[in-house]
Formats: sequence, structure tokens, C-alpha cells
Amino acid sequence: MIRLLFVVASVVVLSACTQPATRVAEAPAAAPNPLPGTKLSIDQLKAQMFHVSAGKRLKGAWPDAARVAVGLSFDVDNATATLSTGTLDYEILSRGEYGAVDGLPRILRMLDRQQVPASFFIPAASAVLHPQMIKEIQGSKLQHEIGVHGWIHERLPLLNDEKEEQRLLNLSLETLTRMAGKRPVGYRAPSWKFSGWTMGQVKAAGFLYDSSLMASDDAYELLLDGKPTGVVELPIERILDDFPYFGGNADGSNPSVADVYEVFQSEFDVAYEEGGLYLLTMHPHIIGHRSRVAMLERLVQYMKRKPGVWFATHEQIANHVKPLIAQN
Ligand SMILES: [Zn+2]
Repeated sequence: MIRLLFVVASVVVLSACTQPATRVAEAPAAAPNPLPGTKLSIDQLKAQMFHVSAGKRLKGAWPDAARVAVGLSFDVDNATATLSTGTLDYEILSRGEYGAVDGLPRILRMLDRQQVPASFFIPAASAVLHPQMIKEIQGSKLQHEIGVHGWIHERLPLLNDEKEEQRLLNLSLETLTRMAGKRPVGYRAPSWKFSGWTMGQVKAAGFLYDSSLMASDDAYELLLDGKPTGVVELPIERILDDFPYFGGNADGSNPSVADVYEVFQSEFDVAYEEGGLYLLTMHPHIIGHRSRVAMLERLVQYMKRKPGVWFATHEQIANHVKPLIAQN
């Protein structure tokens, strides 16, 4: 949002600078209504609210009478979000590059030690720039999953172009399918942001599941304009993401992995009590640092000490809950 405001502000400044002097005397254009929602009818409100929304909740028994399903996911953004904006700041770019150089290998070693599979959502350009990452992920015997995460981490509402969004989705799918040798079945929008076309394109591409939205703690079926899509949502949450704590506005200013551990563990404890779903979103260039992978490993060890914890890829979890859509 801050970046969007900056772009809007830049355009305003630029156009103000380039206007001829004679225009100065004209009355200023009315500012856009900052609260357009106040002018909508109930039907218009419903159309907006339920363009993409939560349908049937998909909560049933887990395999082997497990109490909770745990899905660890890693968004392998590295430097792509920065590259997508044309920002050639090599301090920032190298911070992303860390994900490929040290972050991902350290995470994969930890997962191997703990024998826990994970899902890796990779902007296809990130895979092209560091192709060894695909080999390293597939080098594990744990059969980790590779999912789609845009071409170059393009923010889709900012792209705001249906055809271009479709082109980039097709390119991402083709590229990852070729590199991984398997067509991905999972989709996660860059920055979790949908445009008005994303849900329709995700459904048309035949994805088994999306993992970008957060209307429930448990899996649910996504609705498009109020109609069932058959697409499973595996919900994410900002409090179950490394980025708000260590990246983003925090920008590394939160030194305490113990605080993050406490949030992650207590969320897991309640998911365990409720027989629910527990998903974490992390990034190799953020969580992949030494102290943070050590924290994550402590958390995995904590979860493994409890009986009945099913560690699975997002694909396995989505395949398990999808039949619930058809059940009464
Ligand atoms: Zn991302």
C-alpha cells in the first residue's frame, strides 16, 4: 500500500510539473472519494464482498487419526519483488540473493534432519535466476512440493491488466513445469494479493488449491461470485508469517526469535486442541538466517514431541480435504 501511494504521489507530482502555466488558473479537479464504499447499494456491496469469498469449510478427520495437520511453506521470492519494481539497489538485491545462496540450503538441511516435508512457492523468474534451487529441493528424499508464486513476484492489483496477468501465469506454469518436471497444483499469489481476475484464472488453470487468503483457520472451498469453484483454499495468516516480524516494516529490527517462537507455538497449541490446520509461511531470505532456522527447528522438534501431528505438503493436505466438498 505504501508503494502504491508513492506511485500515485509520483504521478501527481509528475503531472503537476508538466502542466502548462495557463492551466494553473483552472479550478482543481475534485479529489477522488476516499470512501467509495459509502455510496454503494446493498447489491453492489454484496457483489464486491463476495466476488471471492469463503464457501464450505473443509474440516474432517486427518489421516491415521492425527490431531493436527502441519504444512510448512516457503516462498522463494529472493530478489524478485525488488527486481519487479526495477529497483537496482544491490544492497537490497543481495539481501534477496541470500535466500538462494545460504537460506534455502540451510532450510533444506534442517528439513532433512527432522524428516519433515515442505511446500516451496517459487516465482518462476527466481527459479530461472538460480536454477540450482530446484535441484536442491528435488535432491531431498522428502518429496517437497513446488508451487506457483507469480513470474517475478508481480503485484497483481498494481499490474492491473487481465491479459498480461494471464500471460505471466501461463509463463510461470510452463517454466516451473519444465524445470521441475511436474505441473504444479498449488497457487499462491505474490504478496497474497489478488486482482479482480486472479480467482477466475486460477480456477481455469485447474489448480487444486490456492494458499493466499485467510477467511478461516481451516481449509475451505473458494467461491467466485458466490458460486463454488472446487478450488480448495489453504489459508495463510500474517501472524503465521516470518515477514511481518523480520522483514517488511520491521526490516530486521525485531531481534527476538523467542517472541516469534512464542506466537508460532501458541498458535500450534490451539490448532492441536481444535484438531485443526496449522500452516506457516516463510521466506528463505528471511527465515534462512542462522538464528531463525535454529528457532524453526526448535518449533518442529516441539511439534514432533506431541502424538498425532501430521506433517504434510500443501498438496497432500489439499488432496485430503478436497473430497469433503462433495460430502453433505
Ligand atoms: Zn512472496
